[in-house]
Amino acid sequence: MIPQRTAPGEASSDPGTPSRPELEEGTVGRAVARIDLGAVSRNCAHLRSLLTGSAELCAVVKADGYGHGATHCAKAALRGGATWLAVATAREAEALRAGGLDCRLLVMGALTPEDAWTAVTASAEVVAWREGLVEHLAELARAAPVRVHVKLDTGMGRLGTADRDEAARVSARVAAHPRLELAGVMTHFATADELGDDHFPVQLRVFTSFVEEMRALYPDLVAHAANSAATYRDAAAHFDLVRCGVAVYGLDPFQRDPTERGLEPALALESYVADVKPLHAGESAGYGRRFVAPEATCIGVLPIGYGDGVRRGLTNNSEVLVGGHRHPLVGTVSMDNITIDLGPHTHVRSLDRAVLIGAQDDERLTAEEMAGRLETINYEVTCGLSPRVERIYVGE
Ligand SMILES: *Cc1c(COP(=O)(O)O)cnc(C)c1O
Repeated sequence: MIPQRTAPGEASSDPGTPSRPELEEGTVGRAVARIDLGAVSRNCAHLRSLLTGSAELCAVVKADGYGHGATHCAKAALRGGATWLAVATAREAEALRAGGLDCRLLVMGALTPEDAWTAVTASAEVVAWREGLVEHLAELARAAPVRVHVKLDTGMGRLGTADRDEAARVSARVAAHPRLELAGVMTHFATADELGDDHFPVQLRVFTSFVEEMRALYPDLVAHAANSAATYRDAAAHFDLVRCGVAVYGLDPFQRDPTERGLEPALALESYVADVKPLHAGESAGYGRRFVAPEATCIGVLPIGYGDGVRRGLTNNSEVLVGGHRHPLVGTVSMDNITIDLGPHTHVRSLDRAVLIGAQDDERLTAEEMAGRLETINYEVTCGLSPRVERIYVGE
């Protein structure tokens, strides 16, 4: 398979100018995210296989598909059996429509009046929990009724109303309005990823009883609550639809090894060895001399840094694969470069491929491992990859 570039190089019309070489499977780039869309599809098929009853899968592709590329991943998710998409913002919905996606699409975030216009214009479904927004949405509705999902805050303490009566009142208002459609009711869990905690079951109980009450009035409602963690944790949380994000990309919602849960990480982060140089004992690499060679060694210089989303907290605190082996990241992560310790007798040569996340031979570095070193979660690692990282899509 020939990998596709996001922005193919333009062929030059001047016969004297060589055209830009394509970055192909075997070649290296300075900061490349290789995204396996087949893995995205397979992760969705796997998630669907977990679902009970007639529950459907909504693939969450907010934040540019958790850094993986929203439009490409949305298409791959639909190929894998997802039937809905969700994003956080109206602008994200607009971009998906522009990318040719015409399935049901939910904007989950809060909306300014302007955002509401953008969402409605993109034929996206929206979330409301106050009557003020409902009235505004009704004014915006034109050709088709605006589909509204009413959000009950069952213990997340963020978006949604914690007042069941208000949720019921807002639902009634939507249902009664000729230019609005009460499409669903929803909630969001605060601790689904903390196995064994006692808050999740409480939230689930409150929402289940709310759904029963609402279904009696509006039998066609789509009730939804589960994120990836809740989808794994409890089938009772599946209702009519699950909203899975992180697992779609093969990232583990519980911050463990994703393969234990049947997930395939879709993203590999790669760079290459731009130079190999000897360092004598006492010489240093990088800003602030944060690494001083205790004895003679060789340093590999990789042209990727925090400007690409390789966080500075990985300074003297990470490993990179080259030649199928782990090498310690030594010295300060700078904006455009990092340095790794190759040892005194290295076979590594310049232009060798380097892997920061992903597999090489039998070794593997996960986003979860990197997140652990940074005391954060895998979500933040992939969302943090900057636009300067070239995305290459394979496995379509
Ligand atoms: C982001 C988000 C999700 C997806 O969560 P994951 O943990 O990535 O599966 C689901 N629902 C809401 C409301 C969200 O904001």
